[in-house]
Amino acid sequence: MGKSIFSKILGGYFLIILIVIAFLLIFSFHSIKTHYINTLTETLKNHAEYALLGVTPLFKDNKITDLQELLVKTANKTNTRLTIIDKSGKVLVDSEENPDIMDNHRSRHEIKEAFSGNTGTSLRYSNTLKKYMLYVAVPIYAGNEVKGVLRVSMFIRDIDTLIGMLKKNIMHMAIILLIVTLMISLLFSKSLSKPIKELGIMANKVASGDFSSRIFIKNKDELKTLGDNLNNMTEKISNLFNELSLQKEELKTIINSIAEGLAVFGEDGKIIMCNKALEEIFKSNTLEGKLYWEVIRDNAISNFIKQALSKKTNIINEITSDNKNYICNIVFLNARNEAIFTLHDITELKQIESVKKDFVTNVSHEMRTPLTAIKGFAETLKENARGEDAHYVDVIQKHSERLINIVNDLLVLSRLESRSFSLELSSIDIMKLIKDVAVMFDEKIKEKGLDLQIDAVSNIKPIKADPFRLEQVFINLIDNSIKYTEKGIIRIDLSQDEKNTIITIKDTGIGIPKEHLPRIFERFYVVDKSRSRKLGGTGLGLSIVKHIINLHKGGIDIESRQGSGTTFTITIPSDLS
Ligand code: ADP
Repeated sequence: MGKSIFSKILGGYFLIILIVIAFLLIFSFHSIKTHYINTLTETLKNHAEYALLGVTPLFKDNKITDLQELLVKTANKTNTRLTIIDKSGKVLVDSEENPDIMDNHRSRHEIKEAFSGNTGTSLRYSNTLKKYMLYVAVPIYAGNEVKGVLRVSMFIRDIDTLIGMLKKNIMHMAIILLIVTLMISLLFSKSLSKPIKELGIMANKVASGDFSSRIFIKNKDELKTLGDNLNNMTEKISNLFNELSLQKEELKTIINSIAEGLAVFGEDGKIIMCNKALEEIFKSNTLEGKLYWEVIRDNAISNFIKQALSKKTNIINEITSDNKNYICNIVFLNARNEAIFTLHDITELKQIESVKKDFVTNVSHEMRTPLTAIKGFAETLKENARGEDAHYVDVIQKHSERLINIVNDLLVLSRLESRSFSLELSSIDIMKLIKDVAVMFDEKIKEKGLDLQIDAVSNIKPIKADPFRLEQVFINLIDNSIKYTEKGIIRIDLSQDEKNTIITIKDTGIGIPKEHLPRIFERFYVVDKSRSRKLGGTGLGLSIVKHIINLHKGGIDIESRQGSGTTFTITIPSDLS
């Protein structure tokens, strides 16, 4: 574990105090010693100058015994040692020793200084006495000439004792200072580390989700600002958290109120969230947190989810499960790697649709026989009708024909839409099929003075399709082209790529206004009702075409401009197996 902030602050203070005291001690010892030696040197100088007054006349008269007496007296009084050295360096008189046994002093530093006319000082370590000695030497003049030197010296032993004593006192003081400052820094560190510690505890509480905790720092410094900011922040987070929870609750309520089944899947297929409707569909109220394949037993739905999750794309599909029809939709959220799944129960709609279809089929069936009879009798009547009667019979015949057409088209559509319907696939020569259809319109084309061109790239391979249904497609499209073209050319082009066969039917007719194009494949949708009726149209031709192309898993596109013609492009897979 790392060191606490308290011990760090305290340790820091301790180190600083220790360094400061150590420097203080060294500095004070040094300056005290220097000051002491300087003062002592001054005192010795004064003693020397004073003694010189008595020494000079006696020295001049060479009164050695008197000098000896004077020196001893002065030495005793001043607690020093006095020595007189002559010009040759020989000791003449000394207050303590017999001069005869003393060395020549000429080479000593302080003596040399004094002989050159100055006051010489020296601090030396005496090997014999194992002590420091302080020397001050002054010249003894006879007239203008230095004739000898008076040296006053003193043991420094006293300084050491004094400094020793001082050292002891200072050390005591230092220790007391250290303890006092340590105690102060202890209090200070505590007052500094306590709020930091409290801030840490508070931050921990907030991190673990306790947004009610607050901190009150007594210090009026940056830590207080930090504490206040932390309190503010916590309050804001708490508000935000509450708001988020509320929003989550709201979202849950909204999701649960949706009639469709809804779930959010994680990337791994886990159900992160789902609504009540979905729980009802799968008859379980513990879907959340489970993997979808554990709870969704239906293969079709399960496979659908699997496909969407593995492809990470949006898919929408109609699925029948357990005698029920659903629209399944998955929207993939790339940013979160999650998918939103909705399951819309369309069973009832499907039933209504099927009832409607059955109704139309039944009505169409029921109407076919009477209509055929009306048409037949009208034809018979027409043979003998004259004048106005002939016109009325003509109208009856035309309308019954139109009704028969509608009924036939409706029956074709309902057959195509019925569940039992399936294509009868065979390998067909599509070029031949189109040409055979075109032949049926030879007469009409000639009548209108049009030109029909069929063109294809070479090597059109046979395709797998339902020839009867495709015939129906081309009949309807070529018939339309002829119906809605007054002059010009109708072109049919054929090509193939690796997978598909592409057929375009292009005319130079009246075209279709842009706003009608999106709805043109709808049942009974016609652009110009009277024109369509006049031309015997039912409005069902293009719906039948679209339906057949869809059954072939192909597509149909329309391009048209009013007044300049229409192009239908059909794309069908060449090998529908
Ligand atoms: P209809 O039996 O009325 O022709 P369709 O379903 O075949 O019904 O066509 C729907 C409508 O689309 C037509 O009424 C017509 O207005 C328009 N239409 C279809 N083909 C063409 C075309 N080649 N040129 C212009 N209009 C067309």
